[in-house]
Amino acid sequence: MGKLRFRQVHLDFHTSEKIVEVGNAFDPQEFAHTLKEAGVDSITCFARCHHGMIYYDTKFPARHPGLKRDLLREQIEACHAVGIRVPIYITVGWDEYMAKQHPEWLERMPDGRPYGAGPLEAGWKHLCFNTPYIDYVEEQTIEVLEKFGDEVDGLFFDIIIQHPCCCSYCMEGMERAGLNPEDPEDRKKFAKQVLDAFKRRMTATVRRYNKDCTIFYNAGHIGPSIRDTLDTYTHLELESLPSGGWGYEHFPITVRYARNLGYEYLGMTGRFHKSWADFGGFKNQAALEYECFTALAHGAKCSIGDQLHPSGAINKATYKLIGSVYSQVKEKEPWCDDVTAVTEIGVFTPEAIEDTAVRLHPSLRGAYRMLEESHYQFDVIDEQMDFSRYRVIILPDVITLDEALKDKLESYVANGGKLLLSYKSGMARGQQQFVLSGMGVELVGDAEYSPDYVVAGEAINQGLFDTEYVMYDRGLWVKPQEGTRVLASIWNPYFNRSYKHFCSHRQTPPEKESGYPAVTQKGSVIYFAHPVFSMYHKHGARVYKQLVVNALRLLLPDKLVETNAPTTAHMLLNYQKPHNRYVLHILHYIPQRRCEEIDIIEDVIPLYNVEVKVKLSSKPERVYCAPKGTQLDFEYTDGYVKVVVPRVEGHEMVVFEQGVK
Ligand SMILES: [Zn+2]
Repeated sequence: MGKLRFRQVHLDFHTSEKIVEVGNAFDPQEFAHTLKEAGVDSITCFARCHHGMIYYDTKFPARHPGLKRDLLREQIEACHAVGIRVPIYITVGWDEYMAKQHPEWLERMPDGRPYGAGPLEAGWKHLCFNTPYIDYVEEQTIEVLEKFGDEVDGLFFDIIIQHPCCCSYCMEGMERAGLNPEDPEDRKKFAKQVLDAFKRRMTATVRRYNKDCTIFYNAGHIGPSIRDTLDTYTHLELESLPSGGWGYEHFPITVRYARNLGYEYLGMTGRFHKSWADFGGFKNQAALEYECFTALAHGAKCSIGDQLHPSGAINKATYKLIGSVYSQVKEKEPWCDDVTAVTEIGVFTPEAIEDTAVRLHPSLRGAYRMLEESHYQFDVIDEQMDFSRYRVIILPDVITLDEALKDKLESYVANGGKLLLSYKSGMARGQQQFVLSGMGVELVGDAEYSPDYVVAGEAINQGLFDTEYVMYDRGLWVKPQEGTRVLASIWNPYFNRSYKHFCSHRQTPPEKESGYPAVTQKGSVIYFAHPVFSMYHKHGARVYKQLVVNALRLLLPDKLVETNAPTTAHMLLNYQKPHNRYVLHILHYIPQRRCEEIDIIEDVIPLYNVEVKVKLSSKPERVYCAPKGTQLDFEYTDGYVKVVVPRVEGHEMVVFEQGVK
């Protein structure tokens, strides 16, 4: 059984020093009782906030001037009395109090301006992790550890972000480290070293005082760069508020990577209509259900962000909302603990490659959409993960290879693995040349025409018209080698559109076949000449997804989950080892862009009579919907168990009990 609790709250408390009465309406009994009623079993409370204010009896001068009580201690005692964990929050990167006292501790851009909010703006300034400020962070953390002793369940360090910095400390530091401050790459490298050193130092310090509290360093995202210091964490918290700038794609993509790092993890959303500190802004219940149940479906525990009112009075409406969802989470938990995802495809993340290391590369978003909408079971992977777990690996658009990755992929294919790659994937890193052996194509160069068109051959034309489909973005011209099969071909327009020659309102119509392939297959490797994944993210044309899905069928004729559910339904298959059972999550919530800034979910739109076929190596003993326990009739033929789920009301779990092992 994991140590992380299922129903957490992250209780922000960034409270301006200009508010004169703080915590005056805090009632410990009411606080704990309200949380308990809402089913909350862990709540992260504040030692020090972004204003730099401290909320317990401290020796430091930054104690909130309006605070007349030992608030954090009272919160901890009240919660512990009713069995609720209380990890402690400590800000690092943003501290207004210290930023004002010590402007020399601010991170500086190369022109000397500090990062973050300017002097006339309301907002946070960024403190540099390479300054004596970090001594203060450490001393204050030690104070927390000493004061609260065994009552410290965990520490949550926030804003663990260091920009490339040219403050005087970093200028000296780079000199000493033999790095060149004039080189942006060296500045980036130094920032990473500083950040990693901070985590090592803090974890070592914490462990001198507390052997087993949880430790987490938050940067609002988890990607491959966490690997160097993964051992300084005890678990992972995936901050991802869909309406707070992260969007609905961030969590499912990120968790599909993070769940392979060997740690317990939680998904953190917010109760806010928009983002953090949205006082008076409430998320629709259906949206909060979707976000929490999505966490469960990905094997994560749940955390909901809230902010406590400066008075310390807990908002009853908020906990009515949270309780309405957490009561359901509680019922679902027995099928969601200690699960591992059952997957068939690994999507290699561009974030693992320096040149394409952005948070959500368009090609990754496109691949995620295609696979999720087609009900495939997949992970997001980097070069250190075990490739042999996947029947197919996808290298979307921009996965260039160094020697190690090239070798690993080639031996994966030699051992029976299958590859689907597109555009520049398979090229040597930093070069315009394919190096992956067995791809079956040679590079000619960038396609001379764009937009151009694709005509799919019989092998991959299911669900498509027999016609030319436009490819909005420029692809490559490649030559098939001997033994390579052409699955689709490129058609050229009469000419490229320019002031010299153009035709009608948009792209020039197709004229004739180019002689170059759009999709090829050589053995177990399928190659797309266009950046189809980024294109699906950008343009959303179903044909791009359909071509990829049709190509995948050639590589993976027996996918894990087959269904007649619509593309708006998500299907996630988990295995729960302690119970020897498979749990298929079906989610059906539809985010809609109803206003300028964010996607809204208001309704639960039920699905009826969803046919599902799940590939299982043996016949289940029984199949039922959880948590209700409704038995389902099933057939087991050709390695698939087939059921009809009568009704999916937002979220349903179909359980396949395999019997005692
Ligand atoms: Zn600095």
